[in-house]
Order: sequence, then structure tokens, then C-alpha cells
Amino acid sequence: MASVAFSKVTKSFGEFKAVSDVSFDIGDGEFVCLLGPSGCGKTTSLRMIAGLETPTSGQVMIGGEDVTHFHPKDRNIAMVFQDYALYPHMNLADNIAYPLKVRGEAVSKRHARAKEVADVLKIGHLLDRLPSQISGGQQQRTSLARALVYPAQVYLFDEPLSNLDAKLRLEARGFLNHLQRDMGMTAVYVTHDQAEAMALATRIAVMDQGRIVQYASPIEIYRRPATTFVANFVGNPPMNLVEVEATKDDGKLQLKADGLTIAALPMTDAIGTALAAGSKLTLGIRPEHLDVAGAGAPNTITAPLFANENMGPESLVTIDRGEGARVTARIFTDDHIALGETVTLGFAADHVHLFDSAGKRIPE
Ligand code: ATP
Repeated sequence: MASVAFSKVTKSFGEFKAVSDVSFDIGDGEFVCLLGPSGCGKTTSLRMIAGLETPTSGQVMIGGEDVTHFHPKDRNIAMVFQDYALYPHMNLADNIAYPLKVRGEAVSKRHARAKEVADVLKIGHLLDRLPSQISGGQQQRTSLARALVYPAQVYLFDEPLSNLDAKLRLEARGFLNHLQRDMGMTAVYVTHDQAEAMALATRIAVMDQGRIVQYASPIEIYRRPATTFVANFVGNPPMNLVEVEATKDDGKLQLKADGLTIAALPMTDAIGTALAAGSKLTLGIRPEHLDVAGAGAPNTITAPLFANENMGPESLVTIDRGEGARVTARIFTDDHIALGETVTLGFAADHVHLFDSAGKRIPE
């Protein structure tokens, strides 16, 4: 296994910068997810690690060595693609053993190793079949087996679970989590699914428009999202964001918005700096930190019910503050609330996130 690093990497396609001045380090044995919306530069970044794209400027290092201009076959990496990229005319044994064949291993040795990996992935009984004769989940495991058959320094995954149905996807995710802990592999995993990133990563790099906007552990990203973009991208459902008018009053911070009642918050230097740049702040509250408020609750948000989705053990209760500004609570209730009925949701002051007028987190 090996570390990976980007140093001021930019990749342009003509005038367009798909990846813009990105630097980050991935430690030996880390599982890093590149997370972000479609087109943010995740796959391009992964392909630069693989050597399938060359940076326009900057350096890519693997195991401390500058590999920026190395051919893919001269980097000891294994890659799992979204569409599995299995050879249709080869049976599973030959597909899985292919990386060993390329490296000149003898037939008996490579088939023994393919069987070993296939057994671990529970496809050992299918080795004579062609890819067209197995299910999507089995194809996914075959492509994983092919990546694992030869010890690589770094494993690269490009949305490998996106073609699976929801149940198989969860199962495969659990398996990958197990594998990572078991093998301690260095892995870079591209996904736009925040739940997948949260479940698998030791660290997540959240990307937006070719840049990394936050690089931290899943729990840090959940607890302290660096921007409103990150706050809105991570969490299911995502964090509620409410635009508020902020003033300093009596040495305390007062926040105002339609339907919002909130006790004054203590002023800090960071809030003072944010207020100097603009009085329009954003208040963030996660759905799981809202509940139906009791009478006299100090911090509440009130609006008519927009939707009440019963999910079994919990409901998603969404209220509509007008002009599409909605707030969702994840609560444990099977109470019937009629559409349009006024609902008051309460929250604790220590679950409040604050962002400045540019959308940057105001540190606590
Ligand atoms: P997705 O989740 O949709 O795969 P992504 O975050 O992986 O998105 P990339 O595939 O890295 O995004 O693409 C980033 C941007 O670069 C996109 O706007 C894409 O259209 C552009 N791009 C990627 N490859 C090329 C190319 N070969 N030529 C021109 N533009 C490209």
C-alpha cells in the first residue's frame, strides 16, 4: 500500500478547468471518498491518479514518487469502473485472472489465485460462466475480484455500486467496508452518494466546480460542514438552511426570519467578523435535531405542513415557509397532521450551525 498526493493539480479541457489547483494527501491505508455533484471533477481527479489523464499543471505522487508523467501500467494501481468493464468473451476465471496474465504469471498459478479471491467474494462457483450469464451484483463482485487479484499500491473506484439496486448496493457497501478494514487498503473512491461516502471513508473530499471545499473525516463533515454547499450535500435529508437577518443587540446575537423564534445567542469574535461583512446569515439545523415543539419552547420554527412521509420507524415532516423555503424534521411520530395545518418545530441552541453572508461556516 502507498500514500497518494496531489500538489496544485489543475486539469483543463480547452478553456474549461475541470480540476482547479487541487492539493491533498491520502495516507497509506486510508480510504478517501471524492464526493460531489455531477461534473465537479471527481472522475477526472481519479483518472489523473490512474494515469488515464495527465494534469495540465501540478504533481501527482504515489508512495512519495512523482508519477505525474508515468504511463498507467507503470503505476501499481487497480481500478474498478462504474460499468465493470468485464471482457464479454472471457469467463469469470479469465476475467479475474487477467491482471496476472498481463504480468506473465503461469496459468495454474493465476487460476488458483482467481479462485481464492472469487471464493472470498462468494462467486467461486461461477468461474466458468460468461459475464452475460451472471447478475449485476455478481458482475460487480467480479470486477472487484479482478481489482483485488494482484496486490496494488492503490485501489481506485469510480462509482462501482451505482448500477446495483438499492438492496444489493447496501450489501456491497457493507462488504467494501469490511474489506477495507480487513486489508487496510489505500483507496480513492468516487461517488455522488453522500451515504456511501459517510459509510466507507476515513476522510471525504467534498468537491464543487473543480475544487475541494472540505477535506475531513465523515463525522467532522457532518458535525462541522465548512460551507452551506457542504451542509446541503451531506446528510439525509440534508441540513435545513434558513436565511436570517442578524443584529447585535445588548451584547448578544439576535436572529430574525419569518416563522422563527430563537433566543439570543452569545456573541463571539467570529460572529462579530461575519456581521461586519453582512447582516444576512444562514442558520442551519439538521432534520434529526428538530422535533415537534412543546408550549413555550425557546427555539422554534413555524409554518404550514407541506408533506408528512411515514418511513416506518420515523417520519419526514416538511413545513413550507413560502417561496420554496422548506424545513424538514426527522421525527418519530405516527400522528396524523393534515396538509396546511400549522406545525411548530423546536430545536436546541447547541444544534444550531451558522454561516456568514458568503456561505462560510462561522466557527464556534
Ligand atoms: P460525474 O459524477 O457526472 O461522473 P464528475 O464529478 O466525475 O461527474 P468529471 O467527469 O471529472 O466530473 O468531469 C468534470 C468536468 O470536466 C465536466 O464538466 C466534464 O464535462 C468535463 N470533462 C471531463 N472530461 C472531459 C474531456 N475529455 N473533454 C472535455 N471536457 C471534459
